[in-house]
Amino acid sequence: MWFGRRWVILILAAILIAGVFFVYERGKNPTYEKYTDSFMDTFDTVTIIVGYTSNEKQFKEYFNYAHKRFQELHRYYDIYQSYSGVNNVKTINENAGIRPVEVAEEIVDMILFSKKWYALTEGKTNIALGPVLGIWHDYRDVGRIDPAQAKLPPVHELQAAAEYSSIDDIIVDEQKGTVFLPDGRMRLDVGAVAKGYATELVALELEEMGFDSCLISAGGNIRGIGKPLDDLRERWGVGIQDPRASVVADDGLLDVVFINNASVVTSGDYQRYYVVDGRLLHHIIDPETLMPGDYYQAVSVVAEDSGVADFLSTELFLLPLEKSKKLVESLPGVEALWVLQDGTVEVTEGMAQIMRSRGASGAEPH
Ligand code: ADP
Ligand code: MG
Repeated sequence: MWFGRRWVILILAAILIAGVFFVYERGKNPTYEKYTDSFMDTFDTVTIIVGYTSNEKQFKEYFNYAHKRFQELHRYYDIYQSYSGVNNVKTINENAGIRPVEVAEEIVDMILFSKKWYALTEGKTNIALGPVLGIWHDYRDVGRIDPAQAKLPPVHELQAAAEYSSIDDIIVDEQKGTVFLPDGRMRLDVGAVAKGYATELVALELEEMGFDSCLISAGGNIRGIGKPLDDLRERWGVGIQDPRASVVADDGLLDVVFINNASVVTSGDYQRYYVVDGRLLHHIIDPETLMPGDYYQAVSVVAEDSGVADFLSTELFLLPLEKSKKLVESLPGVEALWVLQDGTVEVTEGMAQIMRSRGASGAEPH
């Protein structure tokens, strides 16, 4: 042999030590990079995905998957457009009073989810309110295009529409995978839940694929997975928009809440509205008064499941404060923040603990 035993031992020892250091270094200080990307072609909003992965290729793989999936779910839950080869919520509406429509599992599940949460709550968030919401939608369009023509919908028209807006009448056949609206005048409007429900589906699928540090923001519908892998923070900071802020004048934030493995969803009167005689008429309609809910400027909900948070943001927005608080208190793991009409902010105890204004930061685990 051209080198002695001593050399072999030295080389083996060096390899061993290097190996130990490598493993130690990886465990102690994994090298993750932060990546961000966005798309604008789903749910009428901008979706931003932020995440930490060990390389860009890995992030792109997750991002592209999420984009494709959001596009698919958007087509399924669309009530305004048809897509060739796809039976979606619009197809269900078009076949009201005619026949059951066979739809994807994601549609059946979202409808069953909405019925279940309707039964669990106070009956304010109702996906069968389509006939009423359709009237508001048309009047809002007119009022926005030509403010001089802006009018309130006639009460008798709204009341007539409310007659066929019962969620219990939706017939779902899980075995056959069909949905049927038995009255020809019934219509689904899934605007209050679809975006959050879709966000939750995508988040869980990304997590399953191994994406363990990510934040999805679908038009302010936020879902966090894991924590930022930057060796600094234990939680994601999520901004809550000030409903009356001038975005130009400041950062537009009312507060920041710190979360991991949770969602933050806001319903506000500032998101979509029109004006009649100086009165702001927004898009969240109380099924009892058939008018825009007027208790709050905005309500934000924190819950693990983004579908639940979206459903509840609409529900809590339409309930008076005592009832709204009582409902949140009855739901474990749910926290809320209410911005009253005069700008006063009310929060649950658990919400206070994660708010920047009350001393929370992203540095400590929750
Ligand atoms: P955003 O659409 O801004 O995220 P929400 O989650 O509160 O806000 O959903 C509002 C949408 O839900 C409306 O645009 C409308 O399509 C629908 N909607 C309004 N009022 C109700 C209601 N009482 N029940 C069910 N859906 C509603
Ligand atoms: Mg909602």
